[in-house]
Amino acid sequence: MSLMLLGLDYELFFGQRTGSVEHCMLHPTEALVAALETANTRHSPKITLFVDACYLLRLKQLEHQHPELQLRRSAIQRQLNQLSLKGHSIQLHIHPHWLDSDYQDGSWITDTSRYRLHDLDAREKASLIIESKQLLEECSEANVFAYRAGGWCLQPFDQIADALSDAGIWMDSTVYSGGLCEDPLRWFDFRGAPDKSHWTFDTDPLKEDEQGRFVELPISQQQVSPLFFWRMAWLKKFGNADVIKPFGDGASMVAHSAYYLERLTRHSAGPASIDGIKGDLLEDAWQQHCSDNPAGYFNVMGHPKALTQRSITRLVEFLERHQDVELVGFEELEHLKPEQLNTPEMPQLVLNQLEEQPKVHQPLKRAFG
Ligand SMILES: [Zn+2]
Repeated sequence: MSLMLLGLDYELFFGQRTGSVEHCMLHPTEALVAALETANTRHSPKITLFVDACYLLRLKQLEHQHPELQLRRSAIQRQLNQLSLKGHSIQLHIHPHWLDSDYQDGSWITDTSRYRLHDLDAREKASLIIESKQLLEECSEANVFAYRAGGWCLQPFDQIADALSDAGIWMDSTVYSGGLCEDPLRWFDFRGAPDKSHWTFDTDPLKEDEQGRFVELPISQQQVSPLFFWRMAWLKKFGNADVIKPFGDGASMVAHSAYYLERLTRHSAGPASIDGIKGDLLEDAWQQHCSDNPAGYFNVMGHPKALTQRSITRLVEFLERHQDVELVGFEELEHLKPEQLNTPEMPQLVLNQLEEQPKVHQPLKRAFG
């Protein structure tokens, strides 16, 4: 039996066309779950949503001026609650630029000048993480303990480690082997990550530290040949539009031109993903996983907004073909929690005192629970 995880970043787009909650989040997630529920598999497959909690917080901040934002937040929270009741997992993803983005005349004016969590000051970081986790736990039956950095901007991790740890986050699933982005705004560099299926770390996710406060569960790797990107470009132009059209109705931020040129000319390593046409490479990613790390977790990512009818079909076909692969939620990984974080139960007296503290201290109590 092999364990597979599917962590989907549940979010809008961040360029000038953010797309709608309906088409980027609600509808594709519903379509995916419905397909998994009718799949002919031995186990009941579970997904994990890495929910962009900063977007939810921003909706909450602005909804007294714009009642339609309250409707959107309720619809999202309702979906998360229902999924959690069915055993799917809700975990933390943060795109902090929402804090600076405004809503006018029915659309978002996005400001991505603070794109990275690191761009916030220490107090803002700490309260954003605590409030985000608290909000997600209101929509979940289970603990929120895992994080995926918005846009893979995880480093330098020492600048966000304490804020995450204080909020009770102990797992990260952002790193993928060979990952590199040289765009100055969105840079990350995962070259040199340990060649393992998971490891403990403290202030540097690329450096194993047995005494560390965090566990890294890297996303599995997918090698993509230039031929694939050419084929993707061809399919976009001439293919059956309905099958390869993503559910999402927004547009991505434009990357620098070297990004596109590199992909059309060189072999590149990417995260194993079921987004769009990459769903076609799921079997290849699995084969590579089996030769690199057969005993480890097969950890695949994606985005509801980038799913297509075809990529959902590819996932279902994959699970039906590999009955020995069980798709589980991140909750199944709670036993990986570093032992040193399992503090003895707090005495009732301390718990009572915490209960009387102002609201901001509440999550600290949960972190010990
Ligand atoms: Zn994201």
